[in-house]
Amino acid sequence: MSFKSLNLSTPILKSLEEEGYHQPTPIQTQAIPIALKGTDVLGCAQTGTGKTAAFAIPILQLLSANKKHGNNRKIRSLIVTPTRELAIQIDESFQSYGRYTNLETAVVFGGVNQKGQVNKLKRGVDILTATPGRLLDLMNQGFISLSDVEIFVLDEADRMLDMGFIHDVKKLLKALPNKRQTLFFSATMPSEIIKLSKSILHNPVKVEV
Ligand code: AMP
Repeated sequence: MSFKSLNLSTPILKSLEEEGYHQPTPIQTQAIPIALKGTDVLGCAQTGTGKTAAFAIPILQLLSANKKHGNNRKIRSLIVTPTRELAIQIDESFQSYGRYTNLETAVVFGGVNQKGQVNKLKRGVDILTATPGRLLDLMNQGFISLSDVEIFVLDEADRMLDMGFIHDVKKLLKALPNKRQTLFFSATMPSEIIKLSKSILHNPVKVEV
């Protein structure tokens, strides 16, 4: 199996080659074709399996194939993850796999002054990676609107619940359009997570590694 056989565009294949990725990992082989079709994904995978690229690659491909912005970018994909370290890593992945696409990314997380994050948002962003608290804070201040989100990723859902983010996640869901694609990842699938996934996903395909 090669990335080429997953029907990825030349700009994305070029960046993956430069990253030194020769073949997709099992989670990528399974999740990328499903996500590219616009179908919801319920992914059972831990960090280290290549799950970030499993959602980042199809998002980059789908958004760049369907350019909507002129000079007016809107947040078309939102990735929510529990920790600032994960948020930074995810944003770096989007930047590296998307370096030959014309998509802007940004990352917001708490514990730092919001000014730099707000300035970046004001310049226009297609793909936003966020931790829940700062995201809601910036939404409440009117700096972020989720009404144009086409693809939503909930990353590390089990850790999100363990860290007490369930109410934040529920608030976010209310601000997201109902008509959207959702990619849901969790390392474990206890009953609470299954229940949450059922309330978020629409006819998902399950992928497991
Ligand atoms: P993740 O599970 O998303 O945290 O990724 C784990 C590590 O695997 C990261 O350092 C990625 O850069 C790397 N990686 C992801 N996909 C591939 C691939 N197809 N080939 C080689 N390395 C990869």
